[in-house]
Amino acid sequence: MELREVAASVYACLQEDRGLGCSNSGLINHGPGLVVDTFWDLPHTREMIGLYADVWAQPAAHVVNTHHNGDHCWGNQLFPESEIIGHRLCAESFEDFPPDVTEALRLATDSEDPAIRDFAEKLAPWDFSGIELTPPTRLVEDRLDLELDGLPLEILYVGPAHTMGDVIVHLPEQRVVFAGDILFYRCTPISWEGTFERWIAALDRIIAFEPEVVVPGHGPICGTEGPESLKSYLFYVRDEAKCSFEAGIPVLEAAKKMDLGPFADWTEPERLVFNIERVYRELRGDSVDAPIDALTLFRQMYELSQSRNG
Ligand SMILES: [Zn+2]
Repeated sequence: MELREVAASVYACLQEDRGLGCSNSGLINHGPGLVVDTFWDLPHTREMIGLYADVWAQPAAHVVNTHHNGDHCWGNQLFPESEIIGHRLCAESFEDFPPDVTEALRLATDSEDPAIRDFAEKLAPWDFSGIELTPPTRLVEDRLDLELDGLPLEILYVGPAHTMGDVIVHLPEQRVVFAGDILFYRCTPISWEGTFERWIAALDRIIAFEPEVVVPGHGPICGTEGPESLKSYLFYVRDEAKCSFEAGIPVLEAAKKMDLGPFADWTEPERLVFNIERVYRELRGDSVDAPIDALTLFRQMYELSQSRNG
C-alpha cells in the first residue's frame, strides 16, 4: 500500500493489483478533509488511515463511497466521527450483503467444489472479522457540490454503470478525478448492475473533464488514456458478445472462444464472463437491476481460467 500526492494536498492510497478487492482510496486534505472509499476489511483500512495520518491534522470529516461493493466501503466504521456520503442506491444496496462473511468463507474453504475453494483462496489475504456495515447517511441523487476550504469538489452520479449507485469525485480546479470502479486500469473490469451505454457515457464524462490525473478504483494512476482504454474494451466485448448471442452460443462458450487481443494482458481476464453475461442480459431486455447469479458466474470464471491455463 502506497500514499501518493497527485495534486496539492490531494492523495491517492494505492493497493497493488493482486486480484480481487485490491482497490484504491483517495484523500482531499483541504479544510475538514474528505476520503474517497475505504477498504475491504478493517486491517487494510487501518493501514490506509495510518498513511493518511502522516498528512492530516485530524481524520477527514467526510467519507464518500463511490459504490456499495465491499472493497470500497467495508472499512467505513473506522471513521466513526465522519459523515458518510453515497448515492441513495448505494446506501440501499448495503442491505444485500451476507450477514456473516467470515462463516461463509470458512465453509467455502472446506467445499468439495474446486471453484468455490479457489474463490475462498483468493479471499484469504482479507480478514472480514468485526465488520459492521456502515452505509452512507448523506445521500446523493444527481450531484452534490462541496467546498473544502474554498476548494470546489463535485460528487456526480454516473450510474447505473458498474453498479446501481456509482458516483465519481471531480476536483475541477486541480483536474483530478477519483473514478471508483467506473475505471479499472490495466485490469479487467467486472460488470454488476447497469448498462454498457451508461458505463461508456460515464467514461466519456471523465474524459470531457480533461483531467490531469485519474485515480481508478483498481489499477495504477493514469490520465485520460485510462478511461479511453476501458471504453475500447467495453465496445469490443459488447460487439463480440452480440455476435455470440445472435448465434445462440452460451456465455461460457462465448468467453472461451473470444480473442481478447490487446486486452489479453490485463489482470483477471476471466472476468470476461461477467461482462459477456451483462451483454446478454441487455440483449434479452432484462431490467438493469435484475438479480445476478454471481455464484454461477464465479464458477464459470474458474472454468474459463482453467481452460486458458490448460
Ligand atoms: Zn472494486
